[in-house]
Formats: sequence, C-alpha cells, structure tokens
Amino acid sequence: MIVVMKSGASQDQIRYMTAQVEGLGLKAHVIIGAERTVIAAVGIKRDGTKESLAIGDGVADVVPISAPYKVASLEVKEERTVVTAGSLQVGGPRVGMIAGPCSVESEQQILETARAVKTAGGSALRGGAFKPRTSPYSFQGMKEEGLELLAAARSATGLAIVTEVVASEDVPLVSHYADVLQIGARNMQNYRLLEAVGNCERAVLLKRGPSATIDELLLAAEYILDRGNTNVMLCERGIRTFESHTRFTLPLATVPYLHQKTHLPVVIDPSHGTGHAFLVPDMAAAAIAAGADGLIVEVHPNPEKAFSDGYQSLNFDAFASMMEQCRNIAHATGREL
Ligand code: PEP
Ligand code: MN
Repeated sequence: MIVVMKSGASQDQIRYMTAQVEGLGLKAHVIIGAERTVIAAVGIKRDGTKESLAIGDGVADVVPISAPYKVASLEVKEERTVVTAGSLQVGGPRVGMIAGPCSVESEQQILETARAVKTAGGSALRGGAFKPRTSPYSFQGMKEEGLELLAAARSATGLAIVTEVVASEDVPLVSHYADVLQIGARNMQNYRLLEAVGNCERAVLLKRGPSATIDELLLAAEYILDRGNTNVMLCERGIRTFESHTRFTLPLATVPYLHQKTHLPVVIDPSHGTGHAFLVPDMAAAAIAAGADGLIVEVHPNPEKAFSDGYQSLNFDAFASMMEQCRNIAHATGREL
C-alpha cells in the first residue's frame, strides 16, 4: 500500500503515520518527493489496513501497489533516482560512463587504463578483483591486492571505483575500497548477498542474470532497497538466447521498459552483451539513444593479452573514439557525457 500524504503534511503527521504503518506489522519506507511525501507500507496486508490508514491526519489517499516489486516501483516514487558515488553520477542529465578492464591484472595495467579512461572523459573505473569465472581453472582475480590497486588508481585519477563482490562475507572488505559494489549476473538471485549489500552504504550496480526476467531483476533490486540502500543501478548485460553470433543477446528495449516501471537508473553493458569489441561502440551509442542512464564498458591497454574477456575489450584508441560517438548521441538526446 502507498500512504500518500497531503502536500504540506507536517513532519509530525508523517512520523505519526510511519508509526501507524509499523504498528500494523508493515515496513515503512518514507519517500520524500518534490510534490508530495509517500509512505510505502510493505509486508503482508490484513483486512482493514487501508481503512485504518486512510483516516490518519494529513493522509490524502491510500492506494495499493499493483507491481510485485514495491519500493522499486514508479508507483511509489515518480522522481527518478540519481545515484551518486564519487565522480560517478547516474540518472541525472549526464550519462555515466564506467570503463576499465574485466580484471585488475597489475599496477601498470590498471593505472594506465585509469588514465586513459579519465583522459577520454569517463566517469568511473571498473575492474574485477574477485572474478566469478565459469571454469575454476580460469584466473580468479587478484582479490585484496586488486582492490588496493583500484584504490591507488582512484587516488591517481579521482575516478570512482566499480568492482564486483561475489560473496556476502566479502562485503565489508570490498566496501572498504570500492565506491560502487557490482553484483554480477551469476549472483543476481543470491538473496543473502543482496541483503548484505542492502545493509551497507555503498551504491550498487545490479546486473541482470542471463536467464532472469525483468520482473525478477526488479525483485532482486527490491531485496537491496528493502534493507534501506536506495542507491541502486540496474544493469542490462545481455540474456541467453538461441542466437550464437553474439556472446549474449543485448535487448535494448530493456531501457525504455524499465523507465516505465521503475525510478532506478538503467545502465547498459555492451561488452558482455555482445562479446565482440567491434560491436561495442555502436551498441553503446544505441543504448544512449534508447535513453540509458549509464554504460559499463571493458577497456584494456592490450586486449589480446588480457587475462579475461579480451575479445570484447576496447583498446584506448577505440574507447576514445567510442566516447566521441556517444557524446554526439548524448547531445542529440539533450544530455551530456
Ligand atoms: C564483468 O563485469 O566482468 C562480469 C563478470 O559481468 P557479468 O556478471 O555481467 O557476467
Ligand atoms: Mn568481463
């Protein structure tokens, strides 16, 4: 249910209604908008809940939330969420560009890449230190040493750090170094991990599972929001289909569809979405044209030598020219990059 407060409702009235919601055994999420404040009352509803809340002082209306996800729904919050994490802003008038290698491999590799990303106008540096790999014999990442190198790259360039956390017990360690915690596609439905990042202060980039529906993605986001962390970005990174000319199939309709359903910003990953470096720039531009709030792109100083995902990584020149192409599209759609 959404308790819609009258415009001009007092703080006391909002506090009182929050307590009323909690008194009914429901969780209260207070969302202060420019026009109105609403209290999303989430949980198992009993008979008479609507009626008992509707008579509260300062209440304009009590309406059901029809979507299965609640706090993520546009029904609860009409204003778009802008996620800010250091140099990165996603959801505002500027398209966020997160770029960097699939994996952190060495000090030189990550520092060189960070400088190239910064020079080309990127907004944040990505790089995996904990890598979820399909095979246990593939490179698993530099772990804490990789996190230290990412922090050094942030000191050198000012770029915010986006890096994956693969297990709930690693959340404190990764949060210590990172500005944004990435939840990988394979972990989208790892509910304990979602709760753990929901309990922490860091912004979260939640990737869609390759076989997950959009509703499942939104319900995964709901686990994080329900714990009180509202700095969540949703990421389309491609789904598994019968098609084999690309690594995954990248559905860009996800962008306008999610914008109809949620206030959370939408990021597109054309690197994993296509699996081929030559397809990345055009899909990045198309994503911006479709309204994407941000992009996450793999960039490597020498893609042929990369420890992971080299075939889909751009070199520095290709990244710089992709930035130019994307900037033109951003301007054409009334935004900056
Ligand atoms: C990655 O970003 O390198 C990654 C492992 O992505 P995904 O979880 O989307 O496969
Ligand atoms: Mn990768």
